[in-house]
Amino acid sequence: MNVIVCRARRFPIRRILRCPTCKTRRRMLAQDEAWYGLSMTCCHCGDRWQDGELYPRPRQRGWRKEAAANATTAWLAAGRYDSAAHQAWFNEQMGYDQ
Ligand SMILES: [Zn+2]
Repeated sequence: MNVIVCRARRFPIRRILRCPTCKTRRRMLAQDEAWYGLSMTCCHCGDRWQDGELYPRPRQRGWRKEAAANATTAWLAAGRYDSAAHQAWFNEQMGYDQ
């Protein structure tokens, strides 16, 4: 029987960086995505950036709270940065043999 391993399309990385919206250092969820590169989401205000460009903000009410909560959950789940796991994820995304 074949086991299908379904890996996440994005690799989460914990960061503590200055948020341009909050104007102070915050927990930032970095997510590496094959072909797209890193995006950053602030765990406090929910704003998100890709290549330094602010993502368009959703128009729903309460989106900040939801986005910040989701980012915090992923930030906590990411654990300590593991460069070997990151490399393995990247190789798999690229279809390289491991
Ligand atoms: Zn922020």
